[in-house]
Amino acid sequence: MAFVNENYCNLKESYLFADIAHKVSAYAAAHPDKKIIRLGIGDVTRPLAPCVVEAMTKAVAEMGVQETFRGYGPEQGYDFLHEALVKYYATFGVTLDSDEIFISDGAKSDCGNITDIFSNANTILVPDPVYPVYLDTNIMCGRKIIFMAGGPENDFLPMPDDNVKADVIYLCSPNNPTGAAYTKEQLEKWVAYALKNDAVILYDAAYEAFVADPAIPRSIFVIEDAKKCAIELCSMSKTCGFTGTRCGYTVVPKALVRKTADGRELQLNKMWLRRQTTKFNGVPYIVQRGAEAAYSPQGVKECRENIAYYQENARIMMEGFDKTGIKYYGGVHSPYIWLQCPNGMTSWEFFDFLLEKLQIVGTPGAGFGAKGEGYFRLTAFGSRENTIEAMERIVNGLK
Ligand SMILES: *Cc1c(COP(=O)(O)O)cnc(C)c1O
Repeated sequence: MAFVNENYCNLKESYLFADIAHKVSAYAAAHPDKKIIRLGIGDVTRPLAPCVVEAMTKAVAEMGVQETFRGYGPEQGYDFLHEALVKYYATFGVTLDSDEIFISDGAKSDCGNITDIFSNANTILVPDPVYPVYLDTNIMCGRKIIFMAGGPENDFLPMPDDNVKADVIYLCSPNNPTGAAYTKEQLEKWVAYALKNDAVILYDAAYEAFVADPAIPRSIFVIEDAKKCAIELCSMSKTCGFTGTRCGYTVVPKALVRKTADGRELQLNKMWLRRQTTKFNGVPYIVQRGAEAAYSPQGVKECRENIAYYQENARIMMEGFDKTGIKYYGGVHSPYIWLQCPNGMTSWEFFDFLLEKLQIVGTPGAGFGAKGEGYFRLTAFGSRENTIEAMERIVNGLK
């Protein structure tokens, strides 16, 4: 008899995006004359950079010629992409070896798959509110999960507590959904906590390219000794607009060593290599050539133009909210504005208000954890025109 993984019974049904879509389509059907502006999207909207398209087109042509055709590639990615990433990291002061970087089809997959190399006996520390993937992937393994609260008291940047014993810690900076970004001093405290407790930090840097101040770390590996206690998960989705193209990477430093329950030491880099070579067959050659181009100096320049477009949208949004007196977080180092719902409204009450009174769609904060209740996420991924119009409606409607 095949029994199923009963941990799946412990997952909460996620109705968030389905509920939003349902409410929006019902409203649109009842009010066909109204223009609805969607600022709930957590997806990029700008097209791929020209040099990325050129590199992928060239790679497609190579695949059609006998001499340059390629079959299976290395599971952990081609060296040309490792080398491009080594050079990219060097631009913000981080030295990596090629074999510390593992190319994948995205950070969401790696977030889920990385659970393979940790014991189910670990206690997992997860911020609240946060990207729901960290929580659900660990519920699927039946692990003990504890939360650290983000709120106005810590500017949505929870800090380590010596009374809390955690084995695996998820950090996301700049954060989805709050837009908050840890300073170097704050990350030093997390690294110190992890080293003291032999814990491992899983650092999600998906929004590193949005960091607008060189003093704010774009990688946890700018912190001394982080290579002894951290794995970095990153993605080309937000950096280069690869949400549909699919490519990401995970950095597992060779200095990262932890024990089995009976005391044998294992290098996590070797474990991850073994995991990937066993269960994964690599990212398409064509996509990796596109990613290589995106991390070249010309690619970085072109991708930055798209990021600058979203950053300008975020600036317009912050300028609007400043006029309303509504308290908000994020926007500076992130494409997300995380705002406190006005007049004590709950997340869903504010959702209904924005949709029905102003025809604007956002994401209720309660969808990102209990501590997200009373907050709301808007994104800067919309078009300039829609962002400007939405903010005019908000400024006039909430004065
Ligand atoms: C968008 C996002 C990712 C990227 O996921 P991909 O699978 O690479 O598209 C990872 N983490 C967070 C917090 C995100 O918002």
